[in-house]
Formats: sequence, C-alpha cells, structure tokens
Amino acid sequence: STTGLAGTTALVTGASSGIGEAVAGALAARGALVALAARRRDRLTQVAENIRAKGGAALVVEADVSDEPGAEAAVAAAVAESGRLDIVVNNAGVLLLGPVEDAPTEEWRRMLELNLLGVALVSRAALPHLLRAAGTGPRYVADLVNISSVGGRIATPNTAVYNAAKFGVNAFSESLRQEVARRHVRVAVIEPGFVATELPLHSRPEVLQRLAGGFDPGVPLDPADVAETIVHVMTRPRHMAVNEVLLRPTEQL
Ligand code: NDP
Repeated sequence: STTGLAGTTALVTGASSGIGEAVAGALAARGALVALAARRRDRLTQVAENIRAKGGAALVVEADVSDEPGAEAAVAAAVAESGRLDIVVNNAGVLLLGPVEDAPTEEWRRMLELNLLGVALVSRAALPHLLRAAGTGPRYVADLVNISSVGGRIATPNTAVYNAAKFGVNAFSESLRQEVARRHVRVAVIEPGFVATELPLHSRPEVLQRLAGGFDPGVPLDPADVAETIVHVMTRPRHMAVNEVLLRPTEQL
C-alpha cells in the first residue's frame, strides 16, 4: 500500500547512503514523515530532495549518534516537527576490517561506540516516544528495527570487534524486546549478508588489498532488497511481530 505508514513519523540513522538511504525512501513512499540522521549534511539534503520529488516528506537531522548528546539530539529533532515518533531504524554503522593482531584500537572504539552503544543510546532516547505512539493511532503499535548483520550471528576472521558489536546488538535487542513487548513496541533485528554499499570502503587500504578476492558473495543484495524486508516487518498487523530476519545473497555461503 502507498499509505500503510501514513500519519507516522520515522527516524532512520545512517540515512545518507546505502541501506539507510533506501529504507528512508521506502518508508516515505508508504506515507511516513522520515527524519534522516547522519553526519554528512550535503548527502542528507540530497536524499531529502529525492524523497520530496516523489511526493514524500523528509527532515534532515545532522547528528553523530555515537555519543549520548548526539543520540538524544537526533531523537529530539525527529520528534520536533510532528510531536511523535512511531518508528526507529538503528542503521548507522561502520565496518573497519582487519586482524586483531595489528589493529588500531581507535577503530575498535569507533565500531563499539557507533554500532553497539549508539544503537542502545538512540533506543533509550526514543523509547518514551515509541511507547506513547504505541498507545495512539494510526497504528497502535511502534517499531524499533536494529540493523545487525550475518556477522551478528557468525564470527569470522578480520571482523572480531565488528562481530562483538553486532552480537551485542542482537543481545540488546532481544532483552529490550521482552521489556516492551506487552506495551506494543515491536523490536526487530535485521541480519543482512553482503549488500553493495560504501560500507567496506572505510577500512584501511592495505587491509582491503590483503583481503581482496578472499570473499565471493556472488550477486550482492541491493539496499532496496533490505528496505523491502524492513517495510514487510513494519507493516505486519498489530498482533504480529517479526523478531529477526537473516537474509543473504543467494550464492553467499
Ligand atoms: P554505508 O557506509 O553506506 O552507510 C553507513 C551510514 O552510517 C552512513 O549513512 C553514514 O553516514 C552513517 N554513519 C556513520 N557514522 C555515523 C555516526 N557516527 N553517526 C551517524 N551516522 C553515521 O553502509 P551500509 O548501508 O552498508 O551500512 C548500514 C548498516 O548496515 C550498518 O549498520 C552495517 O553494519 C549494516 N550491514 C551492512 C552490510 C553490507 O554488506 N553492506 C551487511 C550487514 C549489515 P555519515 O558518514 O554521513 O555519518
């Protein structure tokens, strides 16, 4: 439906590229007012313009959600226009590849602070709003969707701290799910395999060179594939919660 999310407000973190950009477009296409959060304002402005050109509604929220002030400011900005928040997609994340042995520990801190702590901080800040939205129309339910990874279920070499953060996202999500289930806030984890985005490009060039060719997922997923899955999760009837979705390119082992 083109109006399945009409009257709702959604916050998508990491909405300036990749999966977040696609999710934001998909939610806007179904009628949500979408708050687009990330650090690169120019990219967010472009995403917002694309959404508006298709008749959707979007807000630009320049924010670094890896610390508490940033996470709280992002949620506050998302709520400011409509006074409500029905949907949060914790999607912002970084992948900094490499073995534990010679890893710059600053990379570990970035992954834990954004991929794990950022998810928890945004969730905490959003929770009062989600609980309130779950008690009112148009849906009488709210959705918190956390983007984990296949790497949140299976650890592999060269991604130790990324794995630790994503395993942590799964644990955090399941705990929070039980805390809020009876109040009609649905908490879901999405665990994609390889998706064609900018994600791996932030790793050190020497590491990328060393690892090149070591991984063949076949035809990768498109960000739109993940966005469709998330829309499916959010548009289930009120009595049904999809808790976890593991999805891979067909040829990925
Ligand atoms: P991208 O690099 O395209 O997107 C990452 C997004 O996170 C960007 O919008 C970036 O925007 C934002 N971001 C980075 N740092 C911060 C920060 N401190 N505060 C706010 N936003 C930030 O990669 P993907 O779309 O692939 O990644 C999205 C999510 O999907 C991640 O959580 C990733 O772990 C997960 N994932 C990706 C897979 C893949 O194969 N691509 C597979 C499984 C999971 P900006 O730089 O403007 O802040």
